[in-house]
Amino acid sequence: MSSGLEFRDALVKLDLCSNCGACMAFKTAKYCPQIGIPEELYQIEPLPKARSVYVTRARDDNIRSAAQDGGTVTALCKYLLEKGVVKYVLGCKFGKGNVVAVPEIVTDPSRVLVLSKSKYTYVPVLSLLSRVRKEELDKVCVVGVPCQIRSLNMIERDLGIKFVKICILCSSNFKREFLLDILKKHGKKVEDVAKMEIKKKFRILFNDGTVEEVPIKEAKKYSGKCCEQCPELVSHYADLAVGSMFLPEGWNFVLVLTDIGENIVRSAIDANVLEVGDVPQDLLEKIEKVARQKQEQAKKTREEVKCKLRELGLLK
Ligand SMILES: Cc1cc2nc3c(=O)[nH]c(=O)nc-3n(C[C@H](O)[C@H](O)[C@H](O)COP(=O)(O)OP(=O)(O)OC[C@H]3O[C@@H](n4cnc5c(N)ncnc54)[C@H](O)[C@@H]3O)c2cc1C
Ligand code: SF4
Ligand code: SF4
Repeated sequence: MSSGLEFRDALVKLDLCSNCGACMAFKTAKYCPQIGIPEELYQIEPLPKARSVYVTRARDDNIRSAAQDGGTVTALCKYLLEKGVVKYVLGCKFGKGNVVAVPEIVTDPSRVLVLSKSKYTYVPVLSLLSRVRKEELDKVCVVGVPCQIRSLNMIERDLGIKFVKICILCSSNFKREFLLDILKKHGKKVEDVAKMEIKKKFRILFNDGTVEEVPIKEAKKYSGKCCEQCPELVSHYADLAVGSMFLPEGWNFVLVLTDIGENIVRSAIDANVLEVGDVPQDLLEKIEKVARQKQEQAKKTREEVKCKLRELGLLK
């Protein structure tokens, strides 16, 4: 019997599936963020126009020490749950053994720390939407990379609903085999990983203090073709986009993209959930430069990918 997911096998074969999880939840290709990428994303300004820009970090020490950078994302998610703005936060947590990361749903604000830190691999966060009743989809906040936010935008328009969408910036992602090979080399398990980060090199920091560093050029060999055709460093469809590049250690920038996003950040600052720092004068210029490079590179790959998708009848 057909599962409705045959297209996914084709995408996996072409190295185009970013494992966003949308087709697992909805059993359809229509929300796939790698097939119908809007053509305009390759033409418009690569950095969406922000209504405002903040530099922030969580006021809560526990959040800051558990988080990737300033803990802005975790603090915002906790705040949204505490205030009842949303009932569910969808994100991901580290796995066990050789399972690098798994999607995770959080409803209790005291559990939100489980989601903190960046997992530099493809995690099907959107698959969790199958666990939310249709009537409650308006009560969901999703944290995801730009391709996941692109899919959420398609779902919203199709179903007439609205998620709270927090995008974390994404230059590129890596296959789990890459991370598992590093663990194997060190005789380690996922539980031994303290942190993964990109600081000039791709780095895995282990709990015992050892560190593995891989030059970015080498690491990128383990990125999927999906990332090569991806035009967005920052999602054009999010309420908020959060990153840390070009900032001092322990801080985030927040690009506010919608009125909903502005309300969330402003009230989190007023409620002393977020501390505010100075925005470097040239910050947007620097981020824009990286976004433009990504868009330019992606344009070339997309042309080649479109031909393949057409041959398979997946794209008109
Ligand atoms: C693959 C990847 C590439 C990135 N590239 C850049 C970049 O080029 N420039 C930049 O400025 N920032 C980048 N980031 C974002 C950065 O690492 C931080 O996530 C961001 O600064 C937020 O920091 P924080 O302290 O607020 O996060 P935290 O408070 O620690 O929260 C992290 C949140 O990210 C979610 N998350 C973690 N891993 C994934 C994943 N694989 N897929 C979906 N959601 C996930 C978690 O569910 C959690 O909600 C990247 C992140 C990832 C995962
Ligand atoms: S990118 Fe997402 S929707 Fe597309 S095949 Fe992969 S998991 Fe499914
Ligand atoms: S680079 Fe694009 S396709 Fe790849 S994981 Fe990041 S957002 Fe998704």
